[in-house]
Amino acid sequence: MEISSELSESGEDFDWVAGGTDLLPNYKWHINVKRNVISLSSISELTKLSGNHIGSMVRIHKLASDQSTHPVLAKAAKSIASVLIRRSGTVGGNICLDTRCFWINQSETWRESIDWCHKCDCGTEADCRVIPNQNTLCVATYQADLAPVLLCLDAEIHLASPRGNRSMPLNDFFQLDGMTRNVLKEGEMVTHVTIPDGSEDWCGDYQKLSQRDSWDFPEAGVAVLWKCGQDGRPADLRVATTGLESVPSLHIEQSENALSDWNGEDSVDELAESIRKAVKPVQNTWFSPPYRRKMVKVLTKRACRDLVVS
Ligand SMILES: Cc1cc2nc3c(=O)[nH]c(=O)nc-3n(C[C@H](O)[C@H](O)[C@H](O)COP(=O)(O)OP(=O)(O)OC[C@H]3O[C@@H](n4cnc5c(N)ncnc54)[C@H](O)[C@@H]3O)c2cc1C
Ligand code: SF4
Repeated sequence: MEISSELSESGEDFDWVAGGTDLLPNYKWHINVKRNVISLSSISELTKLSGNHIGSMVRIHKLASDQSTHPVLAKAAKSIASVLIRRSGTVGGNICLDTRCFWINQSETWRESIDWCHKCDCGTEADCRVIPNQNTLCVATYQADLAPVLLCLDAEIHLASPRGNRSMPLNDFFQLDGMTRNVLKEGEMVTHVTIPDGSEDWCGDYQKLSQRDSWDFPEAGVAVLWKCGQDGRPADLRVATTGLESVPSLHIEQSENALSDWNGEDSVDELAESIRKAVKPVQNTWFSPPYRRKMVKVLTKRACRDLVVS
């Protein structure tokens, strides 16, 4: 915090670096590079992990393999990238992951050859190439795997800065702009995430669509979590998605509608269709938006498989 205050006071900008598995590749491609980075790796308080408390510097591999991790969160963690990346990459870095777009995640020479874009315009005031003629918003896609499960578990995120600490539901952390991404203010960091008591009562699944299972970002990801009630009906239900817009989304209305008139497999079909309608992917990742939307329906049904059987 001291270093960050000093830099801010002297007008210098900086990025936090956790595992560096996303920030450093972006720096190598000269995407919005800052003059300084501050590493979080020696702050031991940030590595605390228990059933309810996940420090921002907990490595993805540790989260995936720890006995205290909720099984659906562990499944999402295991689906991230490769073993090497999971051993360096952290929970905080995953939640704060920069948004992605095939017009920006390219080398500097490539981007220069097409005259840049709004997210990294090099002072040219270049337009967005996905939704042109607006020059205010970037619609790059949020493609991190942990957020949808954490949203379904009703996680709270905790932030710290030289100005003090604050906490909020994870659902309020993200901001609908591929450049701003979230509510973090200058010099503010994520310290940890907490999950309310009773998370063991929630079961469910996380399903992901990616180009290669071995290490690709989600082109679509769906988490469905429910609490078992009587007669095989879910007593509570939550659905969240990632990889489809600039923010991960918790689909509250769709889940409530499905619960209010639960009718087994028919309700799962209706829920899956309503999630397909709710998501609005744009053409900036590998797979086309119609295919990703179609697959959201399939992934939702797959994630509900045990719900219909139970
Ligand atoms: C080949 C490849 C495949 C990948 N596949 C996937 C995938 O399938 N799924 C997926 O989710 N991700 C994937 N990733 C992205 C990335 O590796 C992971 O999301 C990882 O968890 C990022 O964590 P990190 O600690 O390395 O973040 P860093 O690179 O250190 O940081 C990422 C961003 O978060 C900010 N940040 C980090 N920690 C904090 C903090 N505590 N407070 C505030 N800001 C912070 C940084 O400033 C930076 O903007 C992949 C990356 C690569 C290179
Ligand atoms: S969505 Fe638009 S502004 Fe954002 S990275 Fe892609 S082309 Fe650039």
